[in-house]
Amino acid sequence: MSRALIVVDVQHDFCEGGSLPVTGGVEVARRISGHVEQHHDRYAAVVGTADWHVDPGDHWSSEPDFVDSWPVHCEVGTEGVRFRPELAGALEHVQAVFRKGGHEAAYSGFEGSTEVEGREVGLAAWLSERQVTEVDVCGLATDHCVRATALDARREGLATTLLLDLCAGVAPESTEAALTQMREAGVEIVPAG
Ligand SMILES: [Zn+2]
Repeated sequence: MSRALIVVDVQHDFCEGGSLPVTGGVEVARRISGHVEQHHDRYAAVVGTADWHVDPGDHWSSEPDFVDSWPVHCEVGTEGVRFRPELAGALEHVQAVFRKGGHEAAYSGFEGSTEVEGREVGLAAWLSERQVTEVDVCGLATDHCVRATALDARREGLATTLLLDLCAGVAPESTEAALTQMREAGVEIVPAG
């Protein structure tokens, strides 16, 4: 059995001071770095995902509904798209970053790809090439991109664990609903550690 850690979207715009901030985002970045520094030996691979928008159409709106449309965020070429500096300890162990959403909304890290020797490889294929059968998922935000990534991991047949203390959600109600949905899909939800 081989396990990977997927660190979802710990970018400036999703943390305090960003354009679409999640309360507790900076603290989550710190905790993820601590977790990876302490436990990287238990993972065959550590990967990151990043919301990476060029022109995502109506995913961005000047009058966002915060369900299907959002303020401008994670625009390529801006500070907002970068990983938080507090994530640096984790990034030392990150082997690949899967970027998603260039020209569309993309919540799941499994919609992302990374360049390997001149070709774009999706997250599922990348994990499969490394015989990964289990994943731990953490990051931002529990009720959106973390949720979508964990659900897709289950659809890919991966044993999936959500490290709850290493996540933060946008809103309490949608976070509770997301946790229920993940549990029902077979995601194991545990505190980190
Ligand atoms: Zn986005």
